[in-house]
Amino acid sequence: MGVFVISFPRTLGELRQSPFSESRLRTRHVKDELRENLVARLRQDCPIFPGIVGYDDTVVPQIINAILSRHNFILLGLRGQAKSRILRALTTLLDPQMPYIAGCEIHDNPYAPICRRCHELIAEQGDEIAIAYRAPDERYVEKLATPDVTIADLIGDIDPIKAARGGHHLSSEMTVHYGLLPRANRGIFAINELPDLAGKIQVGLFNIM
Ligand SMILES: [Zn+2]
Repeated sequence: MGVFVISFPRTLGELRQSPFSESRLRTRHVKDELRENLVARLRQDCPIFPGIVGYDDTVVPQIINAILSRHNFILLGLRGQAKSRILRALTTLLDPQMPYIAGCEIHDNPYAPICRRCHELIAEQGDEIAIAYRAPDERYVEKLATPDVTIADLIGDIDPIKAARGGHHLSSEMTVHYGLLPRANRGIFAINELPDLAGKIQVGLFNIM
C-alpha cells in the first residue's frame, strides 16, 4: 500500500496556487498532454510502449509521429496484432492526475469549462468550486462498434426526463444526456471495428473531429 503524502488542491482557488496553475493547464488539451509526456519519455530514451514487441521499426515510429503531430489515428491490422494493447498503452502518456470540476459529467477543465452547469457553478461559487481528479486509466474509453450503435449512444441525446425533473426547456443544453464521446472529454476515445458503424454515425464522429 502506498503512503499518501501529497494532498491535492480541493478548490479552484487552491488549484491556482499549485503546480496545476492556470497558465499551465488552461490551454493544455489532451493531445498537448500526450505530446509533452511523449517528448519527455523520448528524451529519457526509455521504451515508449513496454510490453509491445516487434513493432519498434514499423508501427511505433508512426504512432510517435501521430502523437507528436496531435493527430487522431486509425490502426489497421488483423486480430491479435496488439492494436487494443497499443491503444491502452497510450494511457501511460497521460498525466498521473488530471484536475476537473467535481461532478461534471464531461470532466471540464477548471480554467476553461464548456458545459452550462459548470459555467453557472463558477459564476455562483468562483474560486470555492470543488476540484476532483482523474487517473490515466479512468480517462480511457473504448467502444466496440456494432451496426445498431446510435448517435445517442456515442454523442448524446435530449433526455425528456432530465428536462422534466430539472424544470428545463427541451432546447436547454441542461437536458442533454451525454453519450460516450463527450464523457471521454479530455481523455482517449477508441472505437473498435469502426467500419461496423452505420454511415450516419461515422459522419457524426467526423463532424466532431
Ligand atoms: Zn462541466
